[in-house]
Amino acid sequence: MEIYYESAYIKEFDAAVISCEKRKDGKYDLILDRTAFFPEQGGQSSDIGTITDAFKSHDVTHVSIKDGVIRHVIDEPLNEGEEVHGIIDWKHRFSNMQQHTGEHIFSGIVSSEYGYDNVGFHLSDTEVTMDYNGLLTPDNIRDIELKVNRAIWENVPVICEFPDEQTLKSLNYRSKKELSGDVRIVTVQGYDVCACCAPHVEHTGEIGILKVTGLQNYKGGVRINILCGRRALEYINCQQQIVDELSRQFTTSFDNIIPSVKKLSSENTDLKSELSTVKEKLIEYELKEIPSDKENVILVKDESTDGNSMRRIVNLLAQGHDGFCGVFAGSDEKGYKFVFSSGQKKKDLNEVIKVLREVFGAKGGGNAQMIQGSLSGIEISDVLEKIEEL
Ligand SMILES: [Zn+2]
Repeated sequence: MEIYYESAYIKEFDAAVISCEKRKDGKYDLILDRTAFFPEQGGQSSDIGTITDAFKSHDVTHVSIKDGVIRHVIDEPLNEGEEVHGIIDWKHRFSNMQQHTGEHIFSGIVSSEYGYDNVGFHLSDTEVTMDYNGLLTPDNIRDIELKVNRAIWENVPVICEFPDEQTLKSLNYRSKKELSGDVRIVTVQGYDVCACCAPHVEHTGEIGILKVTGLQNYKGGVRINILCGRRALEYINCQQQIVDELSRQFTTSFDNIIPSVKKLSSENTDLKSELSTVKEKLIEYELKEIPSDKENVILVKDESTDGNSMRRIVNLLAQGHDGFCGVFAGSDEKGYKFVFSSGQKKKDLNEVIKVLREVFGAKGGGNAQMIQGSLSGIEISDVLEKIEEL
């Protein structure tokens, strides 16, 4: 018997053990003659809590329902017929009630104002998502969010009941599927009528607040993330911490953070371009220091030298020297990238790539005038010595 249908506010209950069977994972499936634990269903995660026998308290880590039978997962076996006392983790349950009733009001407004159906719902300990089969803009969302919060401030009653067949037929209610048998109807007065088996708050004021935290296009419609009650407050606190930290970092008020970030970003772009100009100048000076009658010139740079700079260096070298002109960028520990260009005498670089590949296991290739690639697990002095012998 599901006590949560009598009232969503029953936090503790007495019950008798009907059966307790070992599961494949070594835990136990406990079936009671009555329970206030709401099982995982309809996209909502299950209640958690404890069940206490004559000796000790057992954690209920999950609750499921199949063919109307509710199973509580516990770590140790209990005896058939034993009397037990169940306690719902109320903080967890109440949060689920806040999220779920908030979702109903939101979906009710989306349905009445836009005609879209709620085609997906997911309520876990970390997120609440709803899917609708139509598009909503950020402006629509702000408007719906405000209306849901107005419904919360109005503190209207939420009524859960099993109407008789006659009454049910006359009702216009939202439902994800065709229902048969007893249908439980949840009415948020003035905002929504929907078939649902989950526990809800009795008055909308208990939801506290509803905040939309995400909107994305999804399967031709939209997926929306919301947070209600304490979860919304924790989210706002977390966001505020970020804003406070940014305010401190930029030593500015919160409304000046965005201009400060934009300014920093543009200064960074300018500095990068300035640095690249300076680096190029530096390379030119460095290359001028190399005696022009030196035939082969091979430089070793650190890993901050990128591919463009490497090509620029070898091109400049090749204009002023006769032999192999190359650059290795990297370190003995992390390996090197390399680029070579053939100088004024057009010496064949195929000889160089052959040695780099065969002796030092390099990857890469090219042609007689230009080669590039990478190599690792070598000492660069050995490589330079070998190339000098060519
Ligand atoms: Zn529902």
